[in-house]
Amino acid sequence: MKIATVLRNDDYTREVEERLREKLSANQERTCRFVKDVSEHPDLVLSIGGDGTLLEAVHEYGFEPHYVGIHTGHLGFYADWRPEELDEFIHALNHITPLIAEYPTVQCRVTAAGVTTSKWALNELVIRNASLSTLVARVLINGEEFETFRGDGLIVSSPSGSTAYNKAVDGAIVHPSIEAIQLSEIASINNQTYRTIDSSLVLPKHHEVELIVKNPKIMLGLDREQAVWKDVQSITCRVGTDKVKFARYRKLPFWGRVRKAFITD
Ligand code: NAD
Repeated sequence: MKIATVLRNDDYTREVEERLREKLSANQERTCRFVKDVSEHPDLVLSIGGDGTLLEAVHEYGFEPHYVGIHTGHLGFYADWRPEELDEFIHALNHITPLIAEYPTVQCRVTAAGVTTSKWALNELVIRNASLSTLVARVLINGEEFETFRGDGLIVSSPSGSTAYNKAVDGAIVHPSIEAIQLSEIASINNQTYRTIDSSLVLPKHHEVELIVKNPKIMLGLDREQAVWKDVQSITCRVGTDKVKFARYRKLPFWGRVRKAFITD
């Protein structure tokens, strides 16, 4: 089995990875070879750190490998294992056929200065004005005018991203078995002059939301990546054709994760 690791940049995480490498090298029951990058096509990518590390890992390695998260900080939403459980994890690797949980992504096409670029996110796309003034964007659903948004920004989240930034703006939590995207508002202006729906919208597969941007410069976030884009004409989002595959060696149902993360561990 070819294994790659992606680490959070701290000493404790590096120490956990070192321990894991030693244990896997001494593993008699299964040959594990560590690989360095995507060109070597790892079967399994181990993200050691937090949710942000996992987001980095999926953008580095893409849709081919299976992912496992080991959290070295507070409980991560995407991570299943704690550093004290490395022996248990290796035992599972040797003896258990994992369940593969496939998480939908957000797929987007950004048209700026006449050039269209394809992007994707596991958690969400976030759009804000690049300066402190309001973002203004026409919102079209399946090609039909829906509203004109004025406010701080808009989030288009995946189901697994629904518990991240989307949740902080009161969006709904969506189970990852539901192939959908969710459009949520960040501080919309609603008064006698301006009006938005002021609720999150959940769109099924094959539906499309298009944001026609009025600001000359916007800040575009895709998971951890953030950049200023100029002359953006439109951003179109739908459920991605590719999913991120997580190898689950033990049962940790989604609603259990939600409870552990937000109510009680
Ligand atoms: P970070 O270090 O600022 O951490 C953000 C927090 O979000 C961490 O506690 C992380 O564990 C949590 N998180 C990330 N993905 C999650 C998910 N799918 N479900 C539940 N919690 C999740 O940033 P980071 O670690 O680089 O993570 C990037 C993510 O931060 C973005 O994708 C965005 O969702 C989130 N974010 C949240 C807010 C907010 O809640 N107000 C604001 C900005 C960004």
